[in-house]
Amino acid sequence: TDDRLLAAARRPEDVDAALRPKSLDEFVGQKAARENLRIFIQAAKSRGDALDHVLFFGPPGLGKTTLAQIIAREMGTGFRATSGPVIAKSGDLAALLTNLEDGDVLFIDEIHRLQPAVEEVLYPAMEDRALDLMIGEGPSARSVRIDLPRFTLVGATTRQGLITTPLRDRFGIPVRLQFYTVDELELVVRRAAGLLGLAIAPDGAREVATRARGTPRIAGRLLRRVRDFADVAGEPVVNRKVADDALTRLEVDALGLDAMDRRYLMMIADIYRGGPVGVETLAAGLSEPRDTVEEVIEPYLIQLGLIARTARGRCLNGRGWKHLGLNPPPGAQE
Ligand code: ADP
Repeated sequence: TDDRLLAAARRPEDVDAALRPKSLDEFVGQKAARENLRIFIQAAKSRGDALDHVLFFGPPGLGKTTLAQIIAREMGTGFRATSGPVIAKSGDLAALLTNLEDGDVLFIDEIHRLQPAVEEVLYPAMEDRALDLMIGEGPSARSVRIDLPRFTLVGATTRQGLITTPLRDRFGIPVRLQFYTVDELELVVRRAAGLLGLAIAPDGAREVATRARGTPRIAGRLLRRVRDFADVAGEPVVNRKVADDALTRLEVDALGLDAMDRRYLMMIADIYRGGPVGVETLAAGLSEPRDTVEEVIEPYLIQLGLIARTARGRCLNGRGWKHLGLNPPPGAQE
């Protein structure tokens, strides 16, 4: 799945840094989240305090890392980044925390993947800015409390339900990120084209935006690929036709679905007569991990109204049948 053009997970080729907005004003979309953050940042700054801990949740590629960096920038503090799976031992986290400077933002991506023992170190750190260390072993062991500098923990996770309640409760500012609208993505594409020095017509930007799965990272990636096609074809301007030709050749369809999405939909339609069918069954049929199906494939198909998640399993909606160019069989779930 990682080699899917439309996979939202970060890949080295994305060169994300180049296209990353650097301030809340430059950040497109997520209006509610942006305006709330602006107020909390202003308030913390005026009190001369660190910002309360922030938890971002939402599908990959929507701007969680970008917003964490923007928070540090707007607060005028340092930024440190790590991720849940990288922190193997509680000592690693203790070392990170004691090395922070006053006010720093510590960003932990995939925070739901922290080891339980590591997570326990975070609780007093977040709540009391303190580290409880055990010194020695056996009867002579004692606990020593070390004070930490003021810091803001910014956590990111793809789904709110993945994170434990005690950890979630320690974030004062939970922020859910939404898929972007086509209008918003059009702005993202135009801005990115400007940064890449690429001439793009409004209908070309619209076309890329429509097919980017509501995700800025994918919009940026599609734009780079479209640029390659335009360069090779000697097209001076990316208009709708140039974008459509390139994306069609890349097997990204009009709704922004790729071969994997279509296989997923076809499986429900063809083998399970529109469902309901369990996610485990679908994952096995596609030879994909269940997490990938739930986090990467399904959210956007649900957003488009092509499928529904029900208690009994996944069902193809009328729109889903239509997109496949099929009629639902008699008695199929609607
Ligand atoms: P996440 O951490 O949620 O996976 P990132 O913050 O790494 O996502 O963003 C992925 C890419 O999308 C980055 O290259 C960034 O430049 C771009 N991006 C994200 N949000 C926006 C936005 N609101 N406006 C413009 N570009 C964005």
